[in-house]
Amino acid sequence: MTKVVFFTDIAELSSALTFFPLESFTGKKVPVKLHMGEKENQYFMKPEVVRYVVDELKHANTDPFLFDTTVAYHGLRHTKKDYQNLANLHGFTRKNVGCDVIIDDSGVPISIEGRTFEVADHLKVASHIFTLSHVKGHIQSGMGGAIKNFGMGGVTKETKIKIHDSSYPVYQKDACTYCGVCAEVCPFHAIEVNEEYWDYNEEKCFGCGVCVDSCTFKALSFQDADFQFLLACSAKACVQEKTVLYLNELKQISKGCDCDPNAGPIICPDIGYLLSDDPVATDKASLDLINKVKKNVFLKFNKVDPMKQINYGEDIGLGSSSYELIKL
Ligand code: SF4
Ligand code: SF4
Repeated sequence: MTKVVFFTDIAELSSALTFFPLESFTGKKVPVKLHMGEKENQYFMKPEVVRYVVDELKHANTDPFLFDTTVAYHGLRHTKKDYQNLANLHGFTRKNVGCDVIIDDSGVPISIEGRTFEVADHLKVASHIFTLSHVKGHIQSGMGGAIKNFGMGGVTKETKIKIHDSSYPVYQKDACTYCGVCAEVCPFHAIEVNEEYWDYNEEKCFGCGVCVDSCTFKALSFQDADFQFLLACSAKACVQEKTVLYLNELKQISKGCDCDPNAGPIICPDIGYLLSDDPVATDKASLDLINKVKKNVFLKFNKVDPMKQINYGEDIGLGSSSYELIKL
C-alpha cells in the first residue's frame, strides 16, 4: 500500500523524506514543479517552503531548479518573460529559493488513452521530479492538487487549451425532455431551459461537466471527455516511467485556484503537509483530511466532485487511491 507521510510543519520535511529513497535522486538535475501564483493571488506556496525542499534536494547531492509552464490565457504568465517577472515579484528568486527558476513554453507529444498531450521539455527529459502542490478548490475540477499540478501545469499552452475545450458540453435535441435539471445544476448559469427551449452560453461555460453528469436522458455529452479524466491522462503523460515525489500543502485552502486573483475565501483551516511517491494517493489523502475537517467542502463551494480525478487516475494507472497514512 502507498505510504503517505503527514506532518504539520515544513521543518519536519527532512524526517518525512526518510520514508522514500531520496538517494536515487543523487546526481540528477531535478525539476521542482510549482505553480508560482497569478498576480494578486495570495495563497500559492511561498518561497520559504520551496527553500526547505531545495535545501533537502541539495543535501542529497542533486541539482534542483524551480519549474513551471506558461499559461493559455493572457495574464502575467502567458510568456516565459512575463512569468519570470511574476516569479521574481512573488519572491521566487535564486537568492530566496536557492536555485534557478525555469519556465517552459514548448513540449513533446506523448500519447495516453488515445490522446496526445505535449509534455513540457524540461519534464520530458527529467528522470526524477519533485512536485510541490498547494491544495485548493478549482472551478472546473472541484480541487487542485498533485494531479492537476501536472495535468494542467505540466503541459504546453496548446495542450491546456485542448483539455479545456474538450470538456465542453454537446447538446442533442432529440434526446432532451426539457426537464431543466442541467440548468439548475450549472454553477455558472450557462444553460437556460424553458418549455421546448434549451439554450447554452459558451462564454459563461467553464467545461466543468456537472450538466453532462446530471442529464439522465443522455442529451448532453462531452466534446471529447470529462475535464478530470483529461487531467489524469495529461498528468500520466508527464510522470510515467519517472521517479517523482509529491508534496501537497494543505494550508490557506482557498475556494479558487492559484491562477485566480480572487481565489478566496479560505474554506478550510490549515492542516499541514503530505508527502508521497504517488499522485493519486497524495491527492486522495489530502481530500480525506480536508473532508474530515470540512465535509465535502470543495463540492459545496465549487459544485464539482473532485473525487472524479482520483478515480480516473486510478483507472488509467496513474497511481493508487489506497494508502497508509503515517503521522510524524
Ligand atoms: S438535463 Fe438533459 S434532458 Fe434535461 S433539459 Fe438538460 S439536456 Fe435536456
Ligand atoms: S460544463 Fe459546467 S459550466 Fe458548462 S454548461 Fe455544463 S455545468 Fe455549466
